[in-house]
Amino acid sequence: VPDAASRRIKALDPDVVNKIAAGEIIVAPVHALKELIENAVDAGSTSLEVLVKDGGLKLLQITDNGHGIEKDDLAILCERFTTSKLKKFEDLNNIATYGFRGEALASISHIAHLTVTTKTKASNCAWRAHYDGGKLSPPKPGQTSDPKPTAGRNGTQITVEDLFYNVPTRRRAFRSASDEYNKIIDMVGRYAIHCQGVAFSCKKHGDAGTSIAVQGATSTVDRIRQIHGVGVANELIDFSASDERWGFKAEGLATNANYHIKKTTLLLFINHRAVESSNIKKAVEQTYSTFLPKNGHPFVYLSLEIDPQRVDVNVHPTKREVNFLNEDEIIQDICENIRDKLAAVDTSRTFMTQT
Ligand code: ADP
Ligand code: MG
Repeated sequence: VPDAASRRIKALDPDVVNKIAAGEIIVAPVHALKELIENAVDAGSTSLEVLVKDGGLKLLQITDNGHGIEKDDLAILCERFTTSKLKKFEDLNNIATYGFRGEALASISHIAHLTVTTKTKASNCAWRAHYDGGKLSPPKPGQTSDPKPTAGRNGTQITVEDLFYNVPTRRRAFRSASDEYNKIIDMVGRYAIHCQGVAFSCKKHGDAGTSIAVQGATSTVDRIRQIHGVGVANELIDFSASDERWGFKAEGLATNANYHIKKTTLLLFINHRAVESSNIKKAVEQTYSTFLPKNGHPFVYLSLEIDPQRVDVNVHPTKREVNFLNEDEIIQDICENIRDKLAAVDTSRTFMTQT
C-alpha cells in the first residue's frame, strides 16, 4: 500500500505527456509516413519521393515539390496544434485537406530527430531547420538552432531519423525492418493509386532500383497494373454510386468474377484519406461471395466522397477510424452497383461460351 506522500496527485512532466501523445498517433513508421504523404499532397505536390532505411526506423525521408513553408513559420512548425488548415472549431465540419489539427510534425519531433528543408517559390533560397521535442534545435551541440539558408528546389523535404530513439520499449518491439518496409510500400502504393496526376516513388536505402515508381500522367488502371500486377489490372470493372440524400459519391475499380485472391485487398479512401472500415470490407466480401469460389476474394479500390458535414473525422487522434451518417445505406448503394456490374460481366461470359 503506497504511503500518504506517494499517493498525492502530481502533474506529469510536459515532456512525458508529449511522448505519450506522440506514441498514440505514431505507433509504427508507416503512421509517420502517412502523415508526411498527406502533408505533401495538401501542399499541392505533383511529385513525392520516399526514401527508407531499416523499415523507416533509421530513416524516413519524403521530398515533395509542393508550395513549401514560409521561413517565418519554421519556428512554430513543430509545436503542437500549429496548423495552416484549421482556424476555428466549426472548420472541422468543412475540412477538405488531409491534416487538420497540427499534431503530426509535433508528434514526430518528440520521438525522432526531424529535419525540414523547404523553399517557397517566392524565396530565393531554401531553409533548413532541425527539431527535437517540438522546438527548433541545433544540428550539432554548440551550434545555433536558427534555420539556415541552403540550396534547394521548390518544395519540402522532411527527414525523420531514429524514430522511437527515446521510447526504448517501443523501439525494441519492432522485430523486422522488412515487415515495416512492407507496410510502408503498401501505404505509398495506396496513395500512388489514388492521387491522380501525382508522381510517386519509394526506395529502400542502398537498393539500386525503386519499389514503386509511378509517373504523374499514369492512369488509375495503369497505376494498379504497376503496383499490383497485370493479373489484377486486366480483370477490372468500374463501379460508381451516389445519392444526394446521403450526401455521397463513390467511384472505384474492382476485379470481376474471373479473378480471385486468398485475401481481400481493399484500398479505401474516404474524402481522399486512406482509412480502414471493417463494415465496408464485410459488405464487399458478402457481395462477392456469390460470384467467387469459396475462399476466393476480390481486389477493390474505392474512393468515397462524403459531405464533410456528415463525417466525423475527430473520433481518434490517428484519424484511421472515420464515422459517417447513413453508413448502412451508403454501403448498400455501393455494393448494389458492384453486384450489377459483376452480374453483367458474368452473363456476357456465359453468353459468349454458349455461342
Ligand atoms: P496539419 O497537417 O494537421 O496542419 P502537421 O503537423 O501535419 O499538421 O503540419 C503542420 C503545418 O506544417 C501544416 O498545416 C502545413 O502548413 C505545414 N506543412 C507540413 N508539411 C508540409 C509540406 N510537405 N509542405 C508544405 N507545408 C507543410
Ligand atoms: Mg498533417
